[in-house]
Amino acid sequence: MSLKDLNIDSRWTLFLDRDGIINRLRVNDYVKNWDEFEFLPGVPESFPVLNRIFGRLIIVTNQQGIGKGIMEPGLVEEVHRRMLEAIRQKGGDIQGIYYCPALEKDRDPCRKPGTGMAHQARRDFPQIEFSRSVMAGDSAGDMEFGRRLGMVNVLITAEPHKKNLKEVPYDFQFCDLPAFTAELKKCYL
Ligand SMILES: [Mg+2]
Repeated sequence: MSLKDLNIDSRWTLFLDRDGIINRLRVNDYVKNWDEFEFLPGVPESFPVLNRIFGRLIIVTNQQGIGKGIMEPGLVEEVHRRMLEAIRQKGGDIQGIYYCPALEKDRDPCRKPGTGMAHQARRDFPQIEFSRSVMAGDSAGDMEFGRRLGMVNVLITAEPHKKNLKEVPYDFQFCDLPAFTAELKKCYL
């Protein structure tokens, strides 16, 4: 199957993980405030292209640093506000941003691979069809989230052969979001 065979149009939704896709991962740490947020190269410029292809873009991000008391929800929301501002400055947009503060051990249904954030998004945007959705993420949990919802899974990583990613179900793989965007552009624009 090629990306073109999906026939993506404005009925489709792109769900995006945040850390490792949009901004640089902080190893053994969290993005606790805007100063610690660093866009990955080429990412802000990718959004206007993605906006032309998909009907809507939704971010779903686990932020258990909040549950651990390391991060404040207010600062996470500020990060999202400023991230969106920067993306809009480049002519792009994101329609919904959802984060889950729960701890991994709590097995909260909102925490990926739990599907709570997708259902929340569909309550807010009833046009969302999971069968016409793509999940783009860098972890096994992201791909399991997409699989449970019947989405097309795109693994975004330069290291697909990493042990914890070997067995995960994905349909396409790209080294980063700009590479995925470039391929979409070739197929659809
Ligand atoms: Mg991630």
